[in-house]
Amino acid sequence: MSSGRSNVIILLGPPGAGKGTIASDLVDRYEMTTVSTGNILRSAMKRQTELGKKAKSYMDAGSLVPDEIVLELLVSHISQMDLSRNLILDGYPRNVAQARSLSTLLGKLGIPLGLVANVEVDDSELIERILSRRTCSKSDCQAVYNTRYSPTKQPGICDRCQSPLITRSDETEEVIQHRLRVYQEQTQPLLSHYKSTNLLRHYSHKDSSVIADLVAKDVEKINVEI
Ligand code: ADP
Ligand code: ZN
Repeated sequence: MSSGRSNVIILLGPPGAGKGTIASDLVDRYEMTTVSTGNILRSAMKRQTELGKKAKSYMDAGSLVPDEIVLELLVSHISQMDLSRNLILDGYPRNVAQARSLSTLLGKLGIPLGLVANVEVDDSELIERILSRRTCSKSDCQAVYNTRYSPTKQPGICDRCQSPLITRSDETEEVIQHRLRVYQEQTQPLLSHYKSTNLLRHYSHKDSSVIADLVAKDVEKINVEI
């Protein structure tokens, strides 16, 4: 990005929409920074921190972790980040209360919300995509692959760090169904919440790198418009 002014970009979309892949693509190819609350939570769980232990039962069940736990982890993570680049939020906010907390947080940090990117995928595709998803087991990598769409060079081994890949414990068909319901009930209302801000854009394409390109273009436009 050329403007030297940083924005926050929210990635919205159901589980399986490819938000993590789109975010890492924007980081690699467009020099953005990303923070994923799912990754932060999984890493806290693995390290068995106090908050990680509290989050575990919610995550295993595919429910949302209580807002105050996620916010605390997010704030401490963001406070250590370089915020001079465009920041992509993957997985936050997940409900209207979190959207309000985020707005307060960004106000304090003095970084504007530039874009709410909603990734749309047919329901019928989501479950299949999630079931063929494999995640790197190393907490500070957590790269996501798909045995069908984006396989690793060596089966079962992460291309980035050579650690073994795993199927996440919340990726059984039953838990996925629950996560999709949680998305519809709690996260989808964010679409009407953000509609009035004029920052909401919708993206739909099978190839997540095409979506990353479109998002990056829109981010450039915002910088020019302001
Ligand atoms: P996906 O987008 O595929 O659902 P994530 O890695 O973003 O996967 O989230 C996995 C789990 O982490 C969620 O099911 C939920 O339990 C928890 N989680 C992640 N982000 C949040 C959040 N902002 N608020 C509450 N829980 C969250
Ligand atoms: Zn890895």
